[in-house]
Amino acid sequence: MRLPRFEYYQPGSLAEAVTMLSQVPGARPVAGGTDLLVNMKHRVEQPAALVSLTRVSELAGVRLEDGATVIGGGVTLKHVQHDEGLKARFPALTQAASVVGSYRHQTMGTLAGNLLQNTRCRFFNQSVEWRSVRALCYKAGGDYCHVMKKEGVCFCTYHGDTAAALLVLDAEVRVEGPDGVRQFPLAQLYSGEGKAPLSLGSAEVLTAVIIPDSSATDGDTAGGSTYVKHALRGAIDFPIVGAAVWRNGDATRVAFTGVDRSPLRATVLEEALAGRALTPAVIEEVAPLAPKGVTITRTTVQPGSFKRELMSALFARAAGSLL
Ligand SMILES: Cc1cc2nc3c(=O)[nH]c(=O)nc-3n(C[C@H](O)[C@H](O)[C@H](O)COP(=O)(O)OP(=O)(O)OC[C@H]3O[C@@H](n4cnc5c(N)ncnc54)[C@H](O)[C@@H]3O)c2cc1C
Repeated sequence: MRLPRFEYYQPGSLAEAVTMLSQVPGARPVAGGTDLLVNMKHRVEQPAALVSLTRVSELAGVRLEDGATVIGGGVTLKHVQHDEGLKARFPALTQAASVVGSYRHQTMGTLAGNLLQNTRCRFFNQSVEWRSVRALCYKAGGDYCHVMKKEGVCFCTYHGDTAAALLVLDAEVRVEGPDGVRQFPLAQLYSGEGKAPLSLGSAEVLTAVIIPDSSATDGDTAGGSTYVKHALRGAIDFPIVGAAVWRNGDATRVAFTGVDRSPLRATVLEEALAGRALTPAVIEEVAPLAPKGVTITRTTVQPGSFKRELMSALFARAAGSLL
């Protein structure tokens, strides 16, 4: 499968990258390219120009800023996975990075690219030939949804691994664009729409992920954080469902990926856990609440009932490992 034609730019600084993204018509940032280039080969994304972020030094490195851990958007998943400080303090994130795709995806793929990957659907992530026998779906520019008959709504699902881990770690993201720098909670990066899943300007670059010190695993208190996922092929696949749990004493946070148009915190489950110590009995009691409030549609070959059961089972496994 060949790539379509596109212009290619390689800026050497963040300012230069933002200028190119604002001035070159149809330009998109590219980092490792492991999501975007595959989508371009499938002709489901066709930017006229790519602005490579690989030489932008402002996106590199892991550092401390006023006690918070700041991870550059261009840091690779391999780096995240092997950083001793991140492993000790934020195991959910390093575990999530270590199960993304294959070794090659982790070596090329970046943290920002992982968070900003496109949503997926079994009717959308296919070659042109495969898709040409059906009506074009909303996400591909048509006016039809092959999954649900709800007019105008695209149910493409978010399947990134690290987002769920970063949601339970209460992470924020920093973006820089033509109008300056903004920093906001990670959850606000996602629009909740399958067709346009991100709330990021076309010339904005995600420069860093910021994790507060309060989310670090604390040796004195029971808990920590973890991420578990179920995929069809363990060595390479996107999560069918991924679950992250963070716990500090009686406080518990839970997040899922692979189940809706955005990665999300399991609010109903968290409410049921509020102020309660996590015990095997409590986990068993609340686990059935995991899928509550989530719109699960059949964007993968697995039925919704299977995903609902997986959510409960993965929550129980993740929470159980933190006892
Ligand atoms: C076979 C296969 C298996 C995979 N399995 C998994 C999996 O198990 N789990 C998983 O989470 N992902 C998986 N992926 C998807 C992908 O490999 C990862 O998400 C990877 O982390 C993407 O990072 P990247 O740097 O390559 O992103 P790119 O492809 O370079 O970019 C992805 C998107 O982010 C944008 N972007 C990138 N960096 C920035 C930035 N700094 N600022 C603004 N926009 C930016 C791009 O414009 C693009 O829209 C898989 C992909 C394939 C092909």
